[in-house]
Amino acid sequence: MEFSLIDRIRERTAQGRDDVRLGIGDDAALLAVPQGQELVAAIDTMVEGVHFPRGTSAADIGWKALAVNLSDLASMGAIPAWALLALTLPNADTAFIDDFADGFAQLARTFRLALVGGDTTRGMLTISVAVHGFVPPGKALLRNGARVDDAVLVTGTLGDAAGGLYLKQHDKRIDAPSTYLANRLDRPTPRVAAGLALRDRASACIDVSDGLLADLGHICTASDVGAQIEAHLLPRSSALLDRFDDVTSRDFALTGGDDYELCFTVPSQQVAAVQADLAKLGCGATRIGRIVEGRGISVRDAADRPIESAHRGWDHFAP
Ligand code: ADP
Ligand code: MG
Repeated sequence: MEFSLIDRIRERTAQGRDDVRLGIGDDAALLAVPQGQELVAAIDTMVEGVHFPRGTSAADIGWKALAVNLSDLASMGAIPAWALLALTLPNADTAFIDDFADGFAQLARTFRLALVGGDTTRGMLTISVAVHGFVPPGKALLRNGARVDDAVLVTGTLGDAAGGLYLKQHDKRIDAPSTYLANRLDRPTPRVAAGLALRDRASACIDVSDGLLADLGHICTASDVGAQIEAHLLPRSSALLDRFDDVTSRDFALTGGDDYELCFTVPSQQVAAVQADLAKLGCGATRIGRIVEGRGISVRDAADRPIESAHRGWDHFAP
């Protein structure tokens, strides 16, 4: 159905790849997995009003729908290759489609990712993107490899997207910090190169989509360990610190979602080498704590006192 819409998407996202034997146009795509590689697959759905606020620009939606998926590949240490796009639209709005496809393509091009197919239907605005990538056998970064005394690190800065969302909803002032934070919310940077660099170094890895405590909690559960976080080490952007007080920005960094940074663990003797690698890639990596015996995550301040967050929903992580 809707061939003109599909043609518009195909044109705007065109990306040649030798491993795409057959892309958009037939009943299914035909793809060649490089010899000796494992296929890594992920899918994520975004619903208007749930995963992005009504009024988000079409180009930002297109970018983010792909970015959240590339972030899943990044956290596995996979190199992206192909995507499928299931688009549900309230009406055949060509301006929306064009801008959406441009935002999607802008990010796709930076990774030479090819959109190889999809589905287009009518209904409440909903976008599902499936992505596929490759990793050498046995090299994928999993959640279950964290060991006691490993260091816990994160790329980039935390809490920016939560700050950006708060400002969008409560404070319409436009200035440099709010623009920076809004961009972090609307156009997250998937840490693909960082994920590749971590392949032979990280013992466990996850992307921070639901908030640091929630996502590090998944590593802890899968690895059957606990973690201790030092709150004063949490990397926070100058924009976040400019617009929010210390406690609020700390809560955003601990529990805010949508940052799409990588949280990972490495044996402590590897921290310096990993930090040097990721500094070269531009995102950097900050050590924020360590893996301990037991379960759950405890958060301590600079004076080693336990921190209680004002934010509900993570008290059950306390020891
Ligand atoms: P079918 O009825 O065989 O599923 P469609 O009309 O749904 O055919 O799709 C025709 C072609 O266009 C297929 O190759 C499909 O993968 C592709 N396609 C449909 N919707 C999209 C989309 N939103 N993005 C990319 N490709 C799409
Ligand atoms: Mg179809």
